[in-house]
This record gives sequence, C-alpha cells and structure tokens, in this order.
Amino acid sequence: MINIKRNILLNPGPATTTDSVKFAQLIPDICPREKEFVDLMKELRLGLLKIVHADHKKYTSVLFCGSGTLNIDVCLNSLLPENKKVLVINNGAYSSRAVEICEYYGLPHINLQFPLNEIPDLKLVEDTLKNNPDIELVYTTHNETGTGILNPIREIGALAHQYRCTFIVDTTSTLAMRPIDVEKDNIDFCMASAQKGIQAMAGLSFIIGKEEIIKQSRNYPKRSYYCNLYLQYDYFEKTGQMHFTPPVQTVYAAIQGLKEYFKEGEVAKWQRHTRVFNAIHKGLEELGFKDYIKRELQTGLVVSVLYPDDKNWNFEKIHDYCYERGYTIYPGKISSTNTFRLCALGAIDEDDIKNFFIVLKEALNTYNITIPVCYNKENSK
Ligand SMILES: *Cc1c(COP(=O)(O)O)cnc(C)c1O
Repeated sequence: MINIKRNILLNPGPATTTDSVKFAQLIPDICPREKEFVDLMKELRLGLLKIVHADHKKYTSVLFCGSGTLNIDVCLNSLLPENKKVLVINNGAYSSRAVEICEYYGLPHINLQFPLNEIPDLKLVEDTLKNNPDIELVYTTHNETGTGILNPIREIGALAHQYRCTFIVDTTSTLAMRPIDVEKDNIDFCMASAQKGIQAMAGLSFIIGKEEIIKQSRNYPKRSYYCNLYLQYDYFEKTGQMHFTPPVQTVYAAIQGLKEYFKEGEVAKWQRHTRVFNAIHKGLEELGFKDYIKRELQTGLVVSVLYPDDKNWNFEKIHDYCYERGYTIYPGKISSTNTFRLCALGAIDEDDIKNFFIVLKEALNTYNITIPVCYNKENSK
C-alpha cells in the first residue's frame, strides 16, 4: 500500500482521516446511475439516520454535493412558506452565515443576536416567538464552531414547537461526535458534511429532517433550482439517486467513515473526542494559555484560545512552525478579540495532542515567547 503522511489537523474540519477512509476512494470507475451505486446511497442514507437515532418512518436524509454551508442554504431557501419569517438565534459566526443567506434570498427574518461568549437568553427567544406569530422557522447552531460554545438546542427546540414552528439546527460540528437524538433534542432538521464527524472527505453534505415537512414544502416558493430540498428529496424517492452527478469517490469514503463510526460506537467515539479535548486543555494550561469561552459553556470539540500579550507573539510564525511538523492550527473567527483555535475533531487521540504540545512549546521557545505565556490585566479572568 502507498504510505501517506499522517497530518494532525486541529482546524475545525476537514479533519484527520484514517488511511482506510482515504483508500476507500480508490475504486474501479463506476457510473453512479448503476444499481450498485444506488444501493450504496441507500445504505448511506439509512446509516446517517441511525447516527442521530432518527426513525426512518418519520425522518429522511437527503444528500447534496457541496460543503456544509450548502445545507444551511438549502434548509432556509426551501422550507419557508410565503409571508412567513425565519428566527435566527445568533451567538456566532455560523448563525451569522444563516442570517447572510436570509439577506441574499431576501427572506423575511429576525436576527436575534446574543454575545458570542454567552448562551442565548431563552426568555428573549420566547418573547420573540410570542410577539411574532408569523415566524415559521427557528434556526440555530449546535456547536458554534467559531468559538466552541454549546447552545441549548433541546430547550430552544421545545420553545419552537410550543409556538408551532419548525426547528432547524446546524449540527455540522457535532453530528457523529457529541451524541444527538433528534426526538429528544426536538430537532426537525439537522445537517452535517462528510468531512467532519464521520471523518470522511469534503464535498458531500447531508440534511436529516422530517419527511412530512419536506412534503409540505413542495409548493413553497422556489428560490433555487440546484439547492431545493423538495426537488432533491423527490428525486431520491423516485430513483434512489441524487438529481445531478454525485461526488462518486467521496461517497465511497463516506460509507467507509460510517462503517468506522459504528464500529467505534457513539459512546466510545464521544469519549475519544473528550480525551482529545481534555488533552488540549491540559496542554494549554501548562503553557499558561487562556480560553475565550468559559469552560463550562464549551461543547467539548473546539477551544478558542486568546492570543498572549507577548511582544514576540506572532500567530503566523507559530502556525508555520507547527505546520512544517505535521500539525495544523487555525485562526479564530471573532472580530473583536484575537484568538486561535484547536479542535478535537477527526481520527486523532490524546497522544497526538501530547506530541503537538511538544512541538508548540518548541515553537514558543524558538520565537522567544515567555512560558507561561503572559496576559495583561484586562485579559485575565
Ligand atoms: C464547518 C461548518 C459548516 C460548513 O462550512 P463549510 O465552509 O461550508 O465547510 C457549517 N456550520 C458549522 C457549524 C460548521 O462547523
């Protein structure tokens, strides 16, 4: 077998994959309209439902060719009836992306904004629902990947249902990592892309949602052709295929990723991500780094780290030093504060993190950054 260098990706996806997932893409050429491929798609769609404990009599999964943002686009442009509104519960960059999508399509929406380092105030969410009976879709992000904060989706979903709304959650950075149960979590629609929790390749994305609601959306305003949920669902129902050419090799990798997911198991996989997350915190604490989000509010998959106040600190240089040695770290996504991110996604374990911190410490020493790293008063918690 070919020997492929193993890189440790600590960026928020695409994540480190196993060799078996990489090699699953090397297959004889096949026309995706063949029954053999249709059967694979069926297996994939059912497997995805199982990950979030969705009953296949109520929920369906619809695949698309594209990155995860496509799912946000599809859900919002396809599931809003005429003269109705979207409520976006927004405490971060990914919910802001949903707001931008509403703006681009001209969808009536309310952008209910909360501070990036706080969970949404449920009383305000409820008041907004009460005062705006024309809200049809309630939308939020499970793990705000920009900061790593965990949103209370079960509670938001319960409120959405109390006011007869459909609840859509961006679970791209939790699905197949932090356990999700669509029924218990009050989720009508959730989503992810193959490059994150299932540890496969970029280019395939999927939405898991209530079939009844998709059927109802058949006559809603059509705002996109390629990215319409009902059209893609209907084509799957009639033919078992994607409407247009699927990312064939990426589908094979995703199926291998699913096999490895079920082999590892929901609980064991979440424990592994938690080990990695704890190892990240331990390493950061030893070097004196501080978090942006309070530890008890973190999802357990992304750590946003504050830049130290050292005149020699230069993120680019530290990044490059680590990158050359096989470790990828990632800039933050907060406009008001300088941060970088270390993520616990992918096929990695705590030893990878221990080895990463050896390299990070070397990098800090190489660039004469004082250890433990220092912070000015206003940054200390
Ligand atoms: C990764 C991610 C996405 C998808 O982003 P792309 O740039 O389209 O891959 C969407 N939502 C969340 C929360 C994510 O973490």
